[in-house]
Amino acid sequence: MKKLGLYIHIPFCRRKCLYCDFCSFVDLDESVEQRYAKALVDELKLYGKRFESHVVDSIFIGGGTPSLFRGGSIEYLMKSINKNLRIAKDCETTIEINPGTIDAKKAQAYKRAGINRISVGVQSLDDEVLKKIGRIHSRQEVFDTIEMLRETGFENISADIIFNLPGQNVESPVNDIKEILKTGIKHVSYYSLKLEEGTPMYSMFDRGEIRVCDDEDERRMYYSGRREMAEKGFLQYEISNFSLKGFESRHNLKYWNREEYLGLGLSAHSCLDDLRFSNTTDLDKYLKNIEFGKLEYETLEEIEKSEAEWEYMILGLRKTAGITYKDYEKNIVINRDRFNDKITALVEKGLIFNDGGSIRLTEKGLDLSNSVFIELMPD
Ligand code: SF4
Repeated sequence: MKKLGLYIHIPFCRRKCLYCDFCSFVDLDESVEQRYAKALVDELKLYGKRFESHVVDSIFIGGGTPSLFRGGSIEYLMKSINKNLRIAKDCETTIEINPGTIDAKKAQAYKRAGINRISVGVQSLDDEVLKKIGRIHSRQEVFDTIEMLRETGFENISADIIFNLPGQNVESPVNDIKEILKTGIKHVSYYSLKLEEGTPMYSMFDRGEIRVCDDEDERRMYYSGRREMAEKGFLQYEISNFSLKGFESRHNLKYWNREEYLGLGLSAHSCLDDLRFSNTTDLDKYLKNIEFGKLEYETLEEIEKSEAEWEYMILGLRKTAGITYKDYEKNIVINRDRFNDKITALVEKGLIFNDGGSIRLTEKGLDLSNSVFIELMPD
């Protein structure tokens, strides 16, 4: 049976963070919530028997802020998923939550719904920084939320932390890491701030109203956070992801292993066989289409084998374990030798390490990963 990852997008937030360019809206009310939850279920039903021969071994409810939905809506959603798809007994089922939008009652509903992994949007543990970036929560709410989740029985908790935020100095992120690791979480996603054009923060930066550190200090933040996590037993398994052994995110590994996943909901992306497609970002259009029983994609493309192989290479190299020769031979079939010269050149530049059984990025390669991926592009 083929394995499948399932992504469900809940595009609502209480307020828009200043750096955010994700597809999310702030006008959620009860009737929109009900309509949207039903649309997700109906969208899945529209696929009919398409996934009869698949078993879902990871589910990720992301956003937006899925924890804005009532616990009952998440239970309804999970019940319908279980009715319409074959779910593996050990399925990893994650929900993204933001402190300030969840209480014990909601967390208990998640337990009943079968959710076994929680990803907490922490971003920073400095109240001033949190305010500067437009987050709705405080540092204390982060600690209270994690404690409440642990008391409810959630063991597998991840925290998202952003570094190089306005208002931070070089030491701030590592201090955040030190504090968050003390809460007993098992996984950290540690990302550098990306100033996306079109966001309020991008304009503020453009006008000189906020500052971030230069490239050298940005790297120091990355290294010090990484070092701290290594000292506490957190293994780096991807450029930005760290966990205690056995707590790697199965769902995210699917993306980096270029495995199949189906996305449901507004703007959700899917990758099935050699097809890649995405849903509309227009909420009204999405709801109406589904209510009319229509599956309509905003983008739909057939991926040529040669492009799929390149994707396999660049996604696989994001993992610190890299790509084994055995997997390479299974996935690079048009011409086994097509990447040889490029890999040899990257090894000579000290960007890729070849141990005879696998290839992976070196320390320098991890820092310059984007240049490595460009060099591997088809000519
Ligand atoms: S909570 Fe997340 S999705 Fe919502 S606005 Fe903030 S960054 Fe964007």
